[in-house]
Amino acid sequence: MKAGYITEEHELLRDSLKKFLNKEAYPFYNTWEEQGEIPRSFWKKLGAQGYLCPWLDEKYGGVGADFGYSVVINEEMEKVGTGLIGVGLHNDIVVPYLEAYGTEEQKEKWLPKCTTGEYITAIAMTEPGAGSDLASIRTTASKESGHYIVNGEKTFITNGIHADLIIVVCKTDPQSSPAYKGISLIVIERGTKGFTRGRKLNKIGLNSQDTSELIFEEAEVPAGNLLGKEGEGFYYLMNQLQQERLIVGIGAIAACERMLELTVGYVKERKAFGRTIASFQNTQFKLAELHTEIEIGRTFLDRTIESHMRGEDVVKEVSMSKWWTTDLVKKVAMECMHLHGGYGYMEEYEIARRFRDAPVTAIYAGSNEIMKTIIAKKMDLG
Ligand SMILES: Cc1cc2nc3c(=O)[nH]c(=O)nc-3n(C[C@H](O)[C@H](O)[C@H](O)COP(=O)(O)OP(=O)(O)OC[C@H]3O[C@@H](n4cnc5c(N)ncnc54)[C@H](O)[C@@H]3O)c2cc1C
Repeated sequence: MKAGYITEEHELLRDSLKKFLNKEAYPFYNTWEEQGEIPRSFWKKLGAQGYLCPWLDEKYGGVGADFGYSVVINEEMEKVGTGLIGVGLHNDIVVPYLEAYGTEEQKEKWLPKCTTGEYITAIAMTEPGAGSDLASIRTTASKESGHYIVNGEKTFITNGIHADLIIVVCKTDPQSSPAYKGISLIVIERGTKGFTRGRKLNKIGLNSQDTSELIFEEAEVPAGNLLGKEGEGFYYLMNQLQQERLIVGIGAIAACERMLELTVGYVKERKAFGRTIASFQNTQFKLAELHTEIEIGRTFLDRTIESHMRGEDVVKEVSMSKWWTTDLVKKVAMECMHLHGGYGYMEEYEIARRFRDAPVTAIYAGSNEIMKTIIAKKMDLG
């Protein structure tokens, strides 16, 4: 069933993006996984074809595309591999902050380069000692004669190695009570004095994604790199996390659909006891169940996307779809790997990589427990 928000133009985009990825991504993806990153040249190619932030206004290099375009781009990237999550993070999570809260001067300086692939972006919230409990971050930014002096450490940062612009979540007022009122967003640029990158992290999945540590030691950032107002950072994060979590749900359902497709193909070919694996009732029931659950997830997700596109507050629905679809992707990965038998455990089969990539979706962008606390609050449970 095609979603209501998908028009002929979206399908045209999908066709041309698929052709592009068939040439520029699929043949190289396994090498990128081995190398532990996607080359910057791929970002430039994405930019040249208009696949980076097409939703931006024309004056910044976009075409004013609606969120349906973002959905298509995220789905097609996910079909190549979850390691391309950094593209969606740049397009639909980080750059939207610059667009929403940047001054005209900041936007003119940064946004056009975000559409060409010249600038890759990241957002740095998590620290070694604070992930879910964001208000307890310890990175500080103190104002001194036209600069912020930033000190602290961030970890698990997607696009951390490639990033040219990083939105760093800092405490500009560490004494503030409640703590979240002292949080501000500061854009730190590549080459800033006192800013270094730590380790590129060795993960069990998303291997082509450059996830890293970032270190700020007396980093000198121009005061003009403050995003929005001092002390408003936490509110900005809460506003933007709706779309971030929606993007994770979109990737999760696309991954489920891909794994189901792979597995249906496999069980129809593979034989045991003189018949196909597909002909066993257990296989049929398992795949029928997964197909049903994926369709349910897709339907709810599409409904939530439509509401988001109408500008409605869907914090509760997004939280529901984020936890449910990412729990589902873990289940689908496990069941589909199992139906591949021993081959499912071998790296040359795509299902093995999908099995490694799936679990993190339930952890990042707010863990699934945090999603449930949001839903419980919306239910007025205290
Ligand atoms: C591959 C990857 C990419 C990432 N990319 C980014 C990025 O680009 N930028 C960024 O800032 N961060 C990023 N993160 C960090 C991610 O958002 C955090 O890992 C996540 O928010 C969880 O924080 P934590 O790891 O500190 O776990 P913790 O907060 O220590 O949580 C540990 C466990 O306790 C549970 N828990 C915590 N609080 C509660 C509660 N109140 N009730 C019930 N259970 C609770 C959690 O659900 C979890 O299961 C990334 C992480 C990974 C693994």
